[in-house]
Amino acid sequence: METHIYLDHAATTPVKREVLEAMLPYFSEKFGNPSSVYSIGRESRKALDEAREQVANAIGAQPKEIYFTSGGSESDNWALKGVAYANKSKGNHIITSSIEHHAIHNACKYLENDGFEVTYLPVDLNGLISIDDLKEAIRPTTTLISIMFANNEIGTIQPIKEIGKFAREKGICFHTDAVQAMGNITINVDDLNIDLLSLSAHKFYGPKGIGALYIRKNVKITSFIQGGGQEKGRRAGTENVAGIVGLGKAIELAVQNLDSYNSKLLYLRDKLIKNVMERIPFVRLNGDSIKRLPGNANFSFDFIEGESLLLMLDMKGIAASSGSACSSGSLDPSHVLLAIGLSHETSHGSLRLTIGDDNTEEHIDYVLEVLSPIVERLREMSPLYEKVKRGEKDV
Ligand SMILES: *Cc1c(COP(=O)(O)O)cnc(C)c1O
Repeated sequence: METHIYLDHAATTPVKREVLEAMLPYFSEKFGNPSSVYSIGRESRKALDEAREQVANAIGAQPKEIYFTSGGSESDNWALKGVAYANKSKGNHIITSSIEHHAIHNACKYLENDGFEVTYLPVDLNGLISIDDLKEAIRPTTTLISIMFANNEIGTIQPIKEIGKFAREKGICFHTDAVQAMGNITINVDDLNIDLLSLSAHKFYGPKGIGALYIRKNVKITSFIQGGGQEKGRRAGTENVAGIVGLGKAIELAVQNLDSYNSKLLYLRDKLIKNVMERIPFVRLNGDSIKRLPGNANFSFDFIEGESLLLMLDMKGIAASSGSACSSGSLDPSHVLLAIGLSHETSHGSLRLTIGDDNTEEHIDYVLEVLSPIVERLREMSPLYEKVKRGEKDV
């Protein structure tokens, strides 16, 4: 029997059947342009309105504060550039963290090239920023704080409520990339004092290429795509109606199922982590052990190349990741793993397993069964490991 175990849900998730079914009519019989006045156009408009409400309800926002985008990367780019440029007369300083997704990190680099100044807050060994560092980083010219809700590689969940409270006190705009958090953590933008929030449907069992940016009423932000009047003139282009319907359905289901989904993931994750740590020597768990996404396990194995580990797991039918999907394929070590203090060598030996809805306890048992012998086999090829085993070298 061929095994297929998908353990890369932080990279993307399969579209749920209910989500696909909700979307399908909007590709064919209900194909009207939402901007048209006749009835099939109005039907599409209604579908957009409903999805906007579903997204708003999921995060405690008003429907008019939800803007549809092409996904997490676009939402992140819009939030950063939009707020930076709209508030340029007030200041040119942005605060973010050193472990953000590339969509944030590279948008910051872009802004730096255009005269903005960016502070990249360090993180501790578990991947957490410190509120004291944040307070110290504030300048009179700071117009935006952008800190991710939860990290895509190591799963660490940031103190979002404290950051929001502080930003509000200072009157500084607070954006969070909640792409990994949505569907895993209860989010209420008012409780958390969040001014802008990025979402992406394909990370919570919706389709790829569709996302949303929450923009709190009265936040000053430039429009992102010039053209027609869609999305209140701020993001032009005929709407991806089927995608938006899928996003709405997926977010509604995610919030409805959050508790049971969470407990299932937590159980499987803790079993996986506990057993890997017990059974395999020279391993470390990356990320905070408690403030951590329920489906995330990220390990570093000494004396191993993550790429070889992925290939061998793939031969056993297991889809996993080392670092993030975007950086696989390049040999650069993950900026996140370096930021939590790992050496280049150790970060190369990292493995991310992210659990999701389609996983079972049998999957975890199977991974535990095949992982140790694979790690041992790869280590046999390391001259350094041989020396350590012979006691000639300390780790
Ligand atoms: C996946 C991801 C993104 C990018 O979302 P896309 O919809 O793939 O563009 C941004 N931020 C985080 C934290 C992510 O995990």
